[in-house]
Amino acid sequence: MARIAIIGAGVAGLSAGIYAQRSGHNATVYETHFRAGGNLTGWDRRGYHIDNCIHWLTGTNPVTDTYKTWQELGVLGEGVAVHRSEPMFTFEKDGERLSLGQSLDQFEQDLLTLSPRDEREIRSFVGAIRGFQRISGIGGEKNNRPATAAEKLAAIPAIARYYGMSTGALAQRFSHPVIVGLLESMMTDSFSALALLLVFATITGGNGGVPEGASVAMAERMSARFLSLGGSLRLGQGVERINLKGGRGVSVTLEGGGAESADYFIVTADPAVTFGKLLDKGLMPRQLQRQYEDARLQRFSSYHCAFACDADALPFRGDAVIEVPKALRDVLPAEYFLVREFSHEESFAPKGRTVLQAMIYCREDEAREFIALSGDREAYGERKRQIALAVERIVTQKYPALSHGLELLDVWTPATYHRYVHSEMGSWMSFALPAGRLPRRISPRIKGLENVLLATQWLQAPGGLPIAATVGKEAIGAILKMERWRGAAQSSASI
Ligand SMILES: Cc1cc2nc3c(=O)[nH]c(=O)nc-3n(C[C@H](O)[C@H](O)[C@H](O)COP(=O)(O)OP(=O)(O)OC[C@H]3O[C@@H](n4cnc5c(N)ncnc54)[C@H](O)[C@@H]3O)c2cc1C
Repeated sequence: MARIAIIGAGVAGLSAGIYAQRSGHNATVYETHFRAGGNLTGWDRRGYHIDNCIHWLTGTNPVTDTYKTWQELGVLGEGVAVHRSEPMFTFEKDGERLSLGQSLDQFEQDLLTLSPRDEREIRSFVGAIRGFQRISGIGGEKNNRPATAAEKLAAIPAIARYYGMSTGALAQRFSHPVIVGLLESMMTDSFSALALLLVFATITGGNGGVPEGASVAMAERMSARFLSLGGSLRLGQGVERINLKGGRGVSVTLEGGGAESADYFIVTADPAVTFGKLLDKGLMPRQLQRQYEDARLQRFSSYHCAFACDADALPFRGDAVIEVPKALRDVLPAEYFLVREFSHEESFAPKGRTVLQAMIYCREDEAREFIALSGDREAYGERKRQIALAVERIVTQKYPALSHGLELLDVWTPATYHRYVHSEMGSWMSFALPAGRLPRRISPRIKGLENVLLATQWLQAPGGLPIAATVGKEAIGAILKMERWRGAAQSSASI
């Protein structure tokens, strides 16, 4: 039985811990915070709950392989209801609106009704979304059976057309401003169009729901699964350094003092932090290093406000996209932002009230500015106050019904993520995939270090919860392989 030290109790760390215990090994997960989950978290403010993470959890359709992984991790399965918002995203401009919900047929119909002129482009676009549903393992008229290998293969030509396209370029193929707006606003306009198509396929394929209780409840279920398998979860215990000897990790030095030994080490922290703090900078795998140096691979973050409001004053369901008026772009330098309501989670607010959250994406340079500013409490506080005022003004102008009873609960920024999960520039996903790139998984191995492995969403752009879960599982797979070799070498030596 090997002793496996896992640094970080986010999804990647908990996944590694669960798979380690399931395969008969002995895992200890060290986490700086007093709560497990990493980015998969939330917090309470004045009697309301703010959810930090899940907009959609890929893998909520039971026919997919990812669903089975979530079942193994205790995230989904019997007794866990999944919320599928209808609609999920709505874009509105000049009195016309377009929504994305759970039915691709309905979405296609709505696109055609909105813009018959765009029919050719719509048919091709919807064909590619259907293709993506097959590729991601969903088949059947009602997305109710696993796709066959032949169906997956047949889906490729419809998708290939979009390979070299960005989300912005995809949007410009349509003439109707509402379609253009929806396509440009869901992610940033420099993302790969394939990534956006995959998101549409996920949502309309019933594969992007939100499990009951959202982020905190999901993290708690994963922690409970890990503990029930006999794992050790050391909350409030950060790791300062991995100590090496002769090309092997031997122990971890704990923050606050003391060292603990292990046979294997799995690091789930942001690699820009891992290599510099836990390990020497020069040990970063070349492939990962090259991604950091590649100007086309952007990182991003976001800033947010949460408000409380009357549940019956809500003028939309799911997420709505709101345009930032030009006059306010010096405060909110973005074209759009998302507002999201939580009326389906009754426990998040007192009776009759609910939570409304705004999310504004920002580039790496803006994120770094927030982090630098957070060193000056007064200036940072003032910046957050301006953000809240601007968001409140835009939201109430668009939805006058919300003018009464809107109450600010919190504002958080890339500096919050930097402080909370120690991500270098507040990023909470991996690199944004640009046009013309397909995601490739980087090996979890670190050259020259036999028993120290990486399990972080940064091993595959664009990251996200399923990738974090998968890399955790794969790190344990790599350890199992090493253990088998070791066992074989020992038994041949004893013959
Ligand atoms: C606003 C927002 C919305 C999102 N929406 C979605 C979504 O809809 N769907 C989706 O799939 N993904 C979404 N994500 C992304 C998702 O949260 C991440 O991809 C995922 O949580 C990453 O998990 P991880 O384990 O790789 O990393 P992290 O969550 O960063 O976990 C790393 C952990 O390591 C700990 N740590 C770091 N250094 C040390 C140390 N020295 N010692 C001990 N512990 C340490 C950190 O405290 C942290 O808990 C969203 C994230 C955010 C913030």
